[in-house]
Amino acid sequence: MAATPAYLALIDQVKKKAKVERQKNKKLFDRLKTDKPKGVDKAFQQVHDEAFAHINCLECANCCRIAQPVFERPDINRVSRHLGMKPKKFIRKYLKPDPEYEYFTRKLPCVFLGDDNKCKIYEVRPMGCRTYPPAKLRLSPEQLHVLYENIGICPAVSEMVDKIKQRFPE
Ligand code: SF4
Ligand code: SF4
Repeated sequence: MAATPAYLALIDQVKKKAKVERQKNKKLFDRLKTDKPKGVDKAFQQVHDEAFAHINCLECANCCRIAQPVFERPDINRVSRHLGMKPKKFIRKYLKPDPEYEYFTRKLPCVFLGDDNKCKIYEVRPMGCRTYPPAKLRLSPEQLHVLYENIGICPAVSEMVDKIKQRFPE
């Protein structure tokens, strides 16, 4: 199933907003990467929980539709075992190599996204999916980059970034 009408509208809204606010967001994330203001990790954890207290991923699933999940070796071993496949066969069937990360899925939407918007391999899903969006981790420049890249994809990230902008004004 696609996102619900309300979430389709929300996804469209955050995509447009991210385009309009691109420069402002870039400036914020550049500042967060270089200065890392005191308390920013905790603030992201709080706004993450506030966002997911009302956002329902099962009505959205936009990340599983348009952002390719990364599969690292432990993910491949775990998921292929779960599916009763040899890792090599699993890679041939579902993944393509990437120079920076180990592998991505071949197709979008993710082949493991069910018609009900649930992940068919939820219990064993890749670590990148488990921690997405990575606002509760200790924020490295890499995690900040992932959050920045997902402002126009994930309604939760969009909301978090709006709140972070207010809490950490220029
Ligand atoms: S994590 Fe974000 S993009 Fe993914 S389903 Fe939830 S709200 Fe949507
Ligand atoms: S593996 Fe599951 S959680 Fe990860 S992108 Fe695919 S459907 Fe979504």
